[in-house]
Amino acid sequence: MTKVERKPTRQQLWRKRHPKSYLAHLCVQNAMRLGVLTRQPCAVCGATKSEAHHPNYNDPLNVIWLCRRHHRALHARESK
Ligand SMILES: [Zn+2]
Ligand SMILES: [Zn+2]
Repeated sequence: MTKVERKPTRQQLWRKRHPKSYLAHLCVQNAMRLGVLTRQPCAVCGATKSEAHHPNYNDPLNVIWLCRRHHRALHARESK
């Protein structure tokens, strides 16, 4: 009998590593479903495909909308 090791998905690993950002994301998703929060275009370039960025994870509904490129650029700058 072989033991099947379930490899955690990348998403699960990310959740473990960033529990606060995961919770903040859930808050945003719920708020959008409820119509409390609406997706805005990227604050930098105006692209409509945007992601929520949290300047402060303790304030999960305070988000900045950024496209993938500008979101990544922002985090790259933060980690340096
Ligand atoms: Zn952008
Ligand atoms: Zn972000």
